[in-house]
Amino acid sequence: MNQLKKSVQYVKNVGPKRKMILEKMGIITVEDLLYSFPREYEDRRRIQDLSQVKDGEKAFVKVIVYGKVQQNITKKGQKIFRVPIRDRSAKGYALFYNTPFVKNIFRIGSEVYLYGQISRAIDQIYINHPTYIFQKDIKESETPAKIMPVYQLADGISQKERARIQENALQQFEDCLQEFLPEDILERNRLCRLPYALSNIHFPKTLQALKEARYRLIFDELFLLQLGLLLIKNYYERKGKGIAFNVPASVSPLIESLPFQLTDAQKKVLQEIQNDMESNKVMNRLVQGDVGSGKTIIALIALYKAVLNGYQGALMAPTEILAQQHFHSARQWLAPLGVRIALLSGSLSKKEKEKVLHEIQNGEIDLAIGTHALIQDAVSFKKLGLVVTDEQHRFGVRQRNLLTEKGLRPDVLVMTATPIPRTLALILYGDLDISIIDTLPPGRKKIKTRCISEKQRQQAYQFVRQQIQKGRQAYVIAPLIENSEVINAHSAIELYHELKEKIFPDIRIALLHGKMKWDEKEFVMRQFQSGEVQLLVSTTVVEVGVHVPNATVMLIENSERFGLAQLHQLRGRVGRGSKQSYCILVNNSNDPLTIQRLKTLEQVHDGFAVAEKDLELRGPGEFFGLRQHGLPEFKIANLFKHVKILKQAQKEAFYLIQEDRNLSLDKNIPLKNKIMDQFGDLFDQIGL
Ligand code: ADP
Ligand code: MG
Repeated sequence: MNQLKKSVQYVKNVGPKRKMILEKMGIITVEDLLYSFPREYEDRRRIQDLSQVKDGEKAFVKVIVYGKVQQNITKKGQKIFRVPIRDRSAKGYALFYNTPFVKNIFRIGSEVYLYGQISRAIDQIYINHPTYIFQKDIKESETPAKIMPVYQLADGISQKERARIQENALQQFEDCLQEFLPEDILERNRLCRLPYALSNIHFPKTLQALKEARYRLIFDELFLLQLGLLLIKNYYERKGKGIAFNVPASVSPLIESLPFQLTDAQKKVLQEIQNDMESNKVMNRLVQGDVGSGKTIIALIALYKAVLNGYQGALMAPTEILAQQHFHSARQWLAPLGVRIALLSGSLSKKEKEKVLHEIQNGEIDLAIGTHALIQDAVSFKKLGLVVTDEQHRFGVRQRNLLTEKGLRPDVLVMTATPIPRTLALILYGDLDISIIDTLPPGRKKIKTRCISEKQRQQAYQFVRQQIQKGRQAYVIAPLIENSEVINAHSAIELYHELKEKIFPDIRIALLHGKMKWDEKEFVMRQFQSGEVQLLVSTTVVEVGVHVPNATVMLIENSERFGLAQLHQLRGRVGRGSKQSYCILVNNSNDPLTIQRLKTLEQVHDGFAVAEKDLELRGPGEFFGLRQHGLPEFKIANLFKHVKILKQAQKEAFYLIQEDRNLSLDKNIPLKNKIMDQFGDLFDQIGL
């Protein structure tokens, strides 16, 4: 048995009680313990003179207790213990709160090292609630001046106890820490070895050692994930036995029937898709393209190809509104070519629905369009060949496996309008092949974007009115549905009433938000699409894919509350026709950085550049929709801060797979074991 999989209770100083506490923190095995890294470190290598310590900073001092511990009680009834301390440079107090035992341990004359936050009054120096080590407790071989780990704690374990436990674990299990990276990878990337890394991440000998340890562990995390994803992808590719769509019938009639020429970028991506489809490997491809880059038609062409080959297709959209829209596009382009299309929508009566389901099952329908329910519920296809899905319902490994279990192995195409830098896409979608539509169709005008303050609101409304008088339509977006007591921001409902009653009483306004019933939403969207509604007040539900070419103004309230990438997506709702379009970002923040951030959208119009900027400015976690993407959680790596290491790790993972796609070479066996251990569940599920 792998020793590291043993319960934490095998670690010295961990009894049943601490075991329970640790388990509550998710630390079950010795390995978990070794891989629960410090939250931060206290740099206690330099002993400062008490006279030199700075207010507000943390300091490490060596002092003598020169007087009796004094006890005060605050107004709130808290007990404060003041320990008089001095070194050769100054006098001061160590302060402790509600810890009567300090009276017994801080004896006059004891020498003690303290580490804590300093506060300085005019002629006093205080060190607040310091951690302490008495000189008499220090073994001869030890030095108190070192870099100390600070762990996340839980009730019942102190920092000191936790550090001791970590130390014991490292000592007891040192011999079990097997290096799993092959020599060449270690060398090429100048990585330190695993035991060194683990030892120094907990108890760094020097800052340099800490840096090396961190680098190695970050590399591991990114490398293992990337490698795991590549193995999965590999598996799907080799599993073969997918469909080879190689009936010679061509999709050109469809392409020729379009009122426009495909762009070169579209052609390139289409070619990649066709190659996948024609081969008998199972296609798992992601198509990335900015809003308006023309992904829908590419999807429809691919679906047409499947139908020409005698298969059925499924097109899944994240919302009913979008499913409806795709249905219209499909009817417009594919129906004339004889493709039989059905919309599986929530609006169907029970009877209608049963009829459609029946037709899908017996093959009378070639192309089924709907939300995600299309693939989950009672729907069974006669001969499903291609599934196209929108990013928001990213088709994960598990779902794909679900299909395979049903005896289906269709090709899968995932479309996304969220531009993600390639390195990140490889992690988020590492199990997919990636195609990018990187140019917009010709003739698109840039959306003129202005960031304005509250004061210019009336002017902005004036502008909206002018556009509507010219026969155009407008969106007004608010971050909230209804007013909130906690969040100070505009709500769609409030704005709707305000605009309808006071500002635009003569204009046809409608309201759209996520709490409305789907048929109400449908109704409103249809009215907006037909032009009956001139101004749509909405939350971000209109974000993805909505296509109303006559809409030329997008006014976004509280734009400071959105990420740049999200604003860019919203902006993409206008500028979908030939008319000049405008985006007005109303900013309710005075923060200069926020204003600067929003102003980048005045300049930057390319979705990838916006995304990069967003990452740079907002940093981790805030990047639009990451949670939706199912981003894995990392212990130590950070996809935004560690892009360089990420690239390096990706390069190595690709290289390794090329060299040894099964990880069967001797030198890669420990790595294979490691990865099976890490991704075991997933690999089991797909039977790897
Ligand atoms: P998205 O990539 O955001 O899904 P769509 O597929 O909705 O973009 O395309 C936006 C609009 O551009 C649609 O009206 C579509 O018909 C049109 N379109 C797509 N490709 C081209 C092209 N090559 N030339 C001109 N218009 C195009
Ligand atoms: Mg689209």
